[in-house]
Amino acid sequence: MPIRAPAPRPYALYEHAVSAVESRAAGILQVPPCIVCDATSARPRFSIEGLGACVVVCTECGTGRMHPLPSEAELREFYPPEYYGNLGTKFSAPIEFLVRWVGDRHAAFLANRLPFGGRVLDVGCGRGVLLGSLVDCGIEAYGFEVSEAAVRGADSRAKICVAARLEDAGYPDAYFDGVILWHVLEHIRDPRSTLETIRRILRPGGRLVVAVPDFGSPQARWAGPAWFHLDLPRHLYHFPLTALRRLLERTGFEVSSEHHFSLRQNPFGWLQSWQNRRADLPRNGLYTLLYRRSPGEAPPFDARTRRRLMLGCVLGAGPAFAATLVETLACKGGTVHVVATPR
Ligand SMILES: [Zn+2]
Repeated sequence: MPIRAPAPRPYALYEHAVSAVESRAAGILQVPPCIVCDATSARPRFSIEGLGACVVVCTECGTGRMHPLPSEAELREFYPPEYYGNLGTKFSAPIEFLVRWVGDRHAAFLANRLPFGGRVLDVGCGRGVLLGSLVDCGIEAYGFEVSEAAVRGADSRAKICVAARLEDAGYPDAYFDGVILWHVLEHIRDPRSTLETIRRILRPGGRLVVAVPDFGSPQARWAGPAWFHLDLPRHLYHFPLTALRRLLERTGFEVSSEHHFSLRQNPFGWLQSWQNRRADLPRNGLYTLLYRRSPGEAPPFDARTRRRLMLGCVLGAGPAFAATLVETLACKGGTVHVVATPR
């Protein structure tokens, strides 16, 4: 069944309800080989209303994936130009300030792990928030992006390449000191091929930093189909940390460290997932409300729903931070970032 093209609003996809599939009733499906372990059997886990696809989970390694995978053309429908924000901004002013402040901290974290003046590629650089901060830290910043619309308004000091696939960008072998895949791997149709290309263009001793939601985390298990970081249908793959390690090893990397705290991702993951578990609130409603709208565009939802979303945000913020601290101390963050080096 073809995947239906959504309306151009980037958050329209959230109107498609996600629900858990009763695993015993669904049985086991024969599917194309898993990108992590090559197994060809998977169990349906989540269904997405009206999109003709579901999330299946590999019976061998636990990696989730969209089945069937959308075509390149269908995938483009999931990313209307508005998804990337207007001229380099995506959220309303206070949230944008926060995103950029966290982006600066993030760049400092990365720059500390890379040689000064080193050459760094941010794959899926989007609006280039990170690239500008990296340049400020003395890094020679390169960006790769599949969407022309995404890089509008990006920092002009960064060298950005737009192409359909990283494999087509033409970067020389052993060219980069560092490559960043920040919440990008799960969006790509062929993550293994992308990692193999990164292995080729990263110099010996260079560093790959890859961040993904952890499909095996307590946050993911508690929230189930309500998990904010499922981000269906844009996330095509869902990696448990164990499977990410395995995929990195398979593509020629050695994991050198794992990090479980993300101020940008993890408290909001708890907060929005908690709201998503409530049947009386719209899926990813708070995220949609904070998203920057075009001038003159009416805010989403009715006034009562907006008030309830914001009240939930205020009441839930404390517990969400507390849950984030606990998951960090247990080394089981809802999202993780892993530093790896070529073997
Ligand atoms: Zn597998």
